[in-house]
Amino acid sequence: MYQGSIKELHQQLVNKERSAVEIAQEVLEHIETVEPKVKAFISVTEESALASAKKVDAKIAAGESIGMLEGIPLGIKDNMCTKGIKTTCASQILANFVPPYESTVTQKLKDAGVVVVGKTNLDEFAMGGSTENSSFKTTANPWDLTRVPGGSSGGSAAAVAAGECVVSLGSDTGGSIRQPASLCGVVGLKPTYGLVSRFGLVAFGSSLDQIGPFSRTVGDSAILLNAIAGHDQIDSTSLKVDIPDYTQYLQPELKKGVKVGIITETFGDGLDPEVAETVKKAIAQLESMGAEIKEISCPRFRYGVPAYYIIAPSEASANLARYDAVRYGMRQESDNLLEMYTNTRASGFGAEVKRRIMIGTYVLSAGYYDAYYLKAQKVRTLIKQDFDRAFEDVDVLVSPTAPTTAFKAGDKNADPLSMYLLDLMTIPANLAGLPGISIPCGFDGAGLPIGMQLIGNVLREDVLFHVAHAYEQATEWHKKQPQI
Ligand code: GLN
Repeated sequence: MYQGSIKELHQQLVNKERSAVEIAQEVLEHIETVEPKVKAFISVTEESALASAKKVDAKIAAGESIGMLEGIPLGIKDNMCTKGIKTTCASQILANFVPPYESTVTQKLKDAGVVVVGKTNLDEFAMGGSTENSSFKTTANPWDLTRVPGGSSGGSAAAVAAGECVVSLGSDTGGSIRQPASLCGVVGLKPTYGLVSRFGLVAFGSSLDQIGPFSRTVGDSAILLNAIAGHDQIDSTSLKVDIPDYTQYLQPELKKGVKVGIITETFGDGLDPEVAETVKKAIAQLESMGAEIKEISCPRFRYGVPAYYIIAPSEASANLARYDAVRYGMRQESDNLLEMYTNTRASGFGAEVKRRIMIGTYVLSAGYYDAYYLKAQKVRTLIKQDFDRAFEDVDVLVSPTAPTTAFKAGDKNADPLSMYLLDLMTIPANLAGLPGISIPCGFDGAGLPIGMQLIGNVLREDVLFHVAHAYEQATEWHKKQPQI
């Protein structure tokens, strides 16, 4: 059940065709109907959703003007702190954690009047690519319930695809917004590192993590970014830059001569032929719309996955040291302090999280640090240099978002490496801090969505929105809906 775009809902509210409470009730009823199948949410916040909707209706009734996001149903990945609402990271160690504070992004959106309908499922601590690492449940792909929605923000992607909310928030450390967007047939944007505050986002890989929107249309993504971007003095990595109105870049037609670079290496080994063909067709479409297309080689991209799987676990092992059973989270009581730590962490963390903590601790240890961590950081610089060279020639880079469409639940979780390889095309943008967007560009023979990734230079979200929106206007993919 598609509720409509943010703009359409806004118009309906302003024209009093529908009230915010009616919209919220419809969405909540729809959640009740499809959730047993989709399992996108860890918690549904029905009461507070209706209370926020009532406030919007009261404003409208009083003749006050309302902002674009007022009354819009939103889902939030359950790794962003929401004051008074459980924030679990899909982990047993935080299963009962109720944060005493609100993350900056969610505060901004609440101030803008959104209606939060719930907290969405993810791979534990955002580590994974299928939501199968959630300690609570695996979310189903709305296009085929036997398949995964991708991850780690699989709940947020599936919720938007299934019409359980209009827009949602995800976090992307190595592809966790773009990859599930691709697998669920929705739009997913990872902004430039530092554009959106990370305050209150439970840390995974702090030099890589970035929050961004999921939506049905590129326009909705721009509206949401308008609301969440901007400097935050309580996030030391937050950028101090002027934030434009991103909706100004949504024009019906592509500017003539926009230079689009195909990343040669992303069309190599391991790419599903149907995905390759579909993305190539989408690129041809961009060309027919007036884009100049050229091939760009980024030879160091193939080292992105190995470098990421050293850097991200290193940062994770340090970040997750705080779950010591002392101040908050699960505690396995013991008279012996060391035993309390070890018992809690042994039973509170799942297998993948433990694997990352062990890898991270190992590669950071004296004697191995230079061989692994330092080397991975050097590779990171080389990848950034590939991008710098590419952006001397083109305005935007294009690739498939993921090497395959959605796979069956259970197919890959016995083999972590095959799961890690799914991030091949998304990881380089995180290592270089660049913005990337995934947009729907077709379906495979089994009716599963395929996504195209656009990567821009630092802070060039404007180019991403411009090209993605023009492509969307010329195609119908984003209008297709799954039958659940
Ligand atoms: N799949 C990647 C990982 O498991 C990316 C996760 C993410 O972006 N949060 O690390």
